[in-house]
Amino acid sequence: MKYIPFSHNMDGVDTASAMLEIRNLTKVYRLGSVAVRALADVSFDVLAGQMVCITGKSGAGKSTLLHQLGLLDQPTEGRISLNGQEVTRLSDWARSRLRLAYLGYVFQEFALLHELTAHENVYLPGMMLGGLDYRRRAMELLSLVGLGDRSRHRPKELSGGEQQRVAIARALINQPRVLFADEPCANLDTVSSRMVMETLVKLNTGMKLTVVFVSHDPEDRRYAT
Ligand code: ADP
Repeated sequence: MKYIPFSHNMDGVDTASAMLEIRNLTKVYRLGSVAVRALADVSFDVLAGQMVCITGKSGAGKSTLLHQLGLLDQPTEGRISLNGQEVTRLSDWARSRLRLAYLGYVFQEFALLHELTAHENVYLPGMMLGGLDYRRRAMELLSLVGLGDRSRHRPKELSGGEQQRVAIARALINQPRVLFADEPCANLDTVSSRMVMETLVKLNTGMKLTVVFVSHDPEDRRYAT
């Protein structure tokens, strides 16, 4: 696999500082008279440039935690700071702006658009963001994840692991500071899983991208820094 450098925007990031500060985070889901406490008083820091694994048994609250950190949901109590800015109680609009500017997401089911090629899947969000050169950047990103020669293939012509790497390339099109991955290997075989995890490690070490990933497999802790 060839590494093509991609200009990752790390200006202003002190790699010894906390990218995410999580303090006393609690999430309670209420369904009628039933309250499910999915997170109870969770506190930790994610340093800039760190690769963090959130692991635990099914139902432990891993996805819930990732959704709070990724600003996809709001906690019941507690606070989160992103790159020094308190983000917990911001408006939906402000949180959307932060997601666009700072964050990338990879999901278990890849979530690619099946009628589009790999290249189109990667550049589509870039096109919506505006800015220059999103097609070229999308090609660079596909090369970065080892799929430069598969850019014209549609998802059904790619293996699960290749589809997930397209999804990783897509998650990088906005040059995020933090990449969140929710069970990125849950639908993959061992070989594909290793390639996906090695891709995330390469992004973390090569581009100093902060990575937070969820895995039910305690063995995946070995990828964390
Ligand atoms: P994990 O990712 O570790 O498997 P989850 O974060 O998905 O765990 O779920 C933690 C707990 O919160 C579970 O008991 C689950 O049923 C509950 N839960 C998750 N999402 C919701 C929701 N949207 N509404 C109600 N309960 C939920």
